[in-house]
Amino acid sequence: MTAAALTPDDDTPRPGATESVTVRVPAKVNLALSVGPLRSDGYHDLATVFHAVGLFDEVTASTADGLALTCEGEGQVDVPLDDTNLAWRAAELLARTAGRSPAVRLHLTKGIPVAGGMAGGSADAAGALVACDALWGTGLSRDDLHALAAQLGSDVPFALYGGTAMGTGRGEQITPVLARGEFHWVFAFAHEGLSTPAVFRELDRLREEAGEQAAAPGVDEELLRALRAGDSTLLGAALRNDLTRPATSLRPDLRATLQAGQDAGAIGTLLSGSGPTCAFLAADAAAAARVAAALEAAPSVRAVRRALGPAAGAHVL
Ligand code: ATP
Repeated sequence: MTAAALTPDDDTPRPGATESVTVRVPAKVNLALSVGPLRSDGYHDLATVFHAVGLFDEVTASTADGLALTCEGEGQVDVPLDDTNLAWRAAELLARTAGRSPAVRLHLTKGIPVAGGMAGGSADAAGALVACDALWGTGLSRDDLHALAAQLGSDVPFALYGGTAMGTGRGEQITPVLARGEFHWVFAFAHEGLSTPAVFRELDRLREEAGEQAAAPGVDEELLRALRAGDSTLLGAALRNDLTRPATSLRPDLRATLQAGQDAGAIGTLLSGSGPTCAFLAADAAAAARVAAALEAAPSVRAVRRALGPAAGAHVL
């Protein structure tokens, strides 16, 4: 909790004083994203390996009379500021669970691209859960927070943990993966976002058109071995995302982005989640700088960021 409203010799908040908590929460890429057949409930079973990277949103929760939400930073004009925002819904859900009113002012500082396939909204939901829990002194356990996170969305639980982890079910069942070392990533943001449901619908359409029967989802052993060894070359060769084909079908310009990173010496290229952000694994910091410079010049790219992975999950600053 920040001490802005506290006097140096008295740690009791003054009546009416504003207390606030800021939580930092990372973006994710899916190192593997294997999508099973369409289920009767409209979802797909997934097997994925989440990897948190050092691109962050911050969620600040401050005492207030009612629920209010503001936002600044990357893609702010596309972020809804009402009860469709996942951070807002997280605060309401936690308040309902704790039997209290959702009186909080939430401020989002975005570094994660909106509708970029990096789970920014999910990150904000996880951040809001942790920030409101601390602000209100709710004292929920990690398991309790995980259960609330899973109600908010498939990608929300992982944002609580960070690191590198296997996701199964719809992605909400999390098992840590043994991973060694640090990886150098470059991210190319696209000019426009891409809707996750639209990409899944396109996957189903393409599979049906080709008469393909989707297999049960699974993660290749080579990827897990590469992570255990901390071997970026092996990891680069093992990256896999079933959503690459439908995302590039909807947005053919993404092929040019992926090619530009590969031509610049990336040892792995990957669509991030449902896209349109493209992720590139580099051998070291110097190689990452070269890949980033080449992508800056690509017409299909709006902005380029470098980040290390794995990053820590949602934590109070
Ligand atoms: P995912 O890969 O988890 O499906 P994404 O990273 O592609 O999601 P988000 O940035 O989470 O995309 O945004 C998807 C949509 O969700 C946005 O277009 C926006 O309308 C809505 N949204 C709701 N809450 C938020 C939030 N806190 N930040 C950004 N977008 C939000």
